[in-house]
Amino acid sequence: MKSTAHAFKDNIGEALRDANLQQSLSIMKVGFVERRRGAVDRMPEFEALRDRARDIKNHALANLDFYLERFERKVLALGGHVHWAPTAEDARRIVLDLCRQANARTVAKSKSMIAEEIGLNEHLEAHGIAPIETDLGEYIIQLRQEPPSHIIAPAVHLTKDQVADTFHEHHGKLGFTRRLTERNDLVAEAREVLRRKFQEADVGITGANFLVAETGSSMLVTNEGNADLSNTLPDTHIVIASIEKVIPTLEDAAALLRVLARSATGQEWSSYTTFNTGPRRDGDPDGPRSYHVVLLDNGRSSVLGGEMQDMLRCIRCGACMNHCPVYGAIGGHAYGWVYPGPIGAVLDPQLLGLEEAGDLPNASTFCGRCESVCPVRIPLPRLMRHWREREFERRLTPPAVRKALGLWAFLAKRPRLYRVATGIANRALALFGRAQGRYDALPLAGGWTKHRDMPAPQTGGTFHAQWKARGGAVR
Ligand code: SF4
Repeated sequence: MKSTAHAFKDNIGEALRDANLQQSLSIMKVGFVERRRGAVDRMPEFEALRDRARDIKNHALANLDFYLERFERKVLALGGHVHWAPTAEDARRIVLDLCRQANARTVAKSKSMIAEEIGLNEHLEAHGIAPIETDLGEYIIQLRQEPPSHIIAPAVHLTKDQVADTFHEHHGKLGFTRRLTERNDLVAEAREVLRRKFQEADVGITGANFLVAETGSSMLVTNEGNADLSNTLPDTHIVIASIEKVIPTLEDAAALLRVLARSATGQEWSSYTTFNTGPRRDGDPDGPRSYHVVLLDNGRSSVLGGEMQDMLRCIRCGACMNHCPVYGAIGGHAYGWVYPGPIGAVLDPQLLGLEEAGDLPNASTFCGRCESVCPVRIPLPRLMRHWREREFERRLTPPAVRKALGLWAFLAKRPRLYRVATGIANRALALFGRAQGRYDALPLAGGWTKHRDMPAPQTGGTFHAQWKARGGAVR
């Protein structure tokens, strides 16, 4: 997927003007959040499980070389193959070679963010191989030639009517001429189309939620069962996964699963959980004859041991974006690359560079909702602040912001002067706005007042003054 993260500010404007998107986001905001809350309320030990999930991932990351080698040995012993891909280009080349070895013309793909990260579909298509997305959401956006806008719900930005139009436009040539409007009918039609695709596919490509070192298994969760058809029907199965997906044991996988589905969709469990452990064995009724795992690094090993390592704990549940007010206002496409929302704001600058994705970590008020719901306790605001500091150090921050920050730093180091200055500003703002209670336009704050009103100060003075009046200490 080609990045447009550098155009983040323009993308935001477009997203806010898109009525269909705003309608879809308003539904998403309520659904995911309420379902997660319900699932968490029904599980008293949820907070303890989050600690356990964090510790499992931390342990795996601290011993990543050991567990990756153990995983590789297990896969080889089972008759499978492991391919190490230091870069996205290596991963694309390896997958293309494997598809060519299998004489593949059609590939059934189950949803994989890694495939998006390395631009796999475009690469296969450019070499005459047709990748067919089999996850319903991915299938819809593939027809529309759009990238995913969410890591677990790729078509969440679309309304039902848009999906109906898309199917009507593309399925006509396959004999489906009626424009359907009911959700169940749309799903049934997609199922019928995809069933034929599964039967035609020469290779199945899936991602992996976890790689289990103990057994050499790749683990996948879905709600549609499409991954299971992608990896059992074709003769060749290729798993593409990034190196930080490895965990030590099956027991660890079970613990992580308990927080994954609850955080993602508010389910107790996803509908399908599949462990793929090597190719088909003698006597197996089905399964691939050839089994490959492609392990992608793409810059991740350089994060190990550094202050950004926490980001590698991510289990791609999407809870941070479901709860982020910024994501909820602009959707995923505005972020301009594979990973949107708070985790995207942390991961994308690492994978794309600060010059390309430096604006993403600035789109946060640090409300902290993302961190408060993350099942593996990633300190997302702290990691975003890290990028802001690097941006400032490398003089990538716009001059006006640098000057404003310089002025603020000057005042913040002089508490008395700070209080005088903020007291004057508070009185001036109150003078011009207290009566109506808000401003719909303010000099130097147009970015804020364009989409919302700025509350005018009411009685009581500055925060410091109110704090002092309540007996709080002020330096
Ligand atoms: S950062 Fe946390 S909440 Fe966000 S997708 Fe990753 S695991 Fe889920």
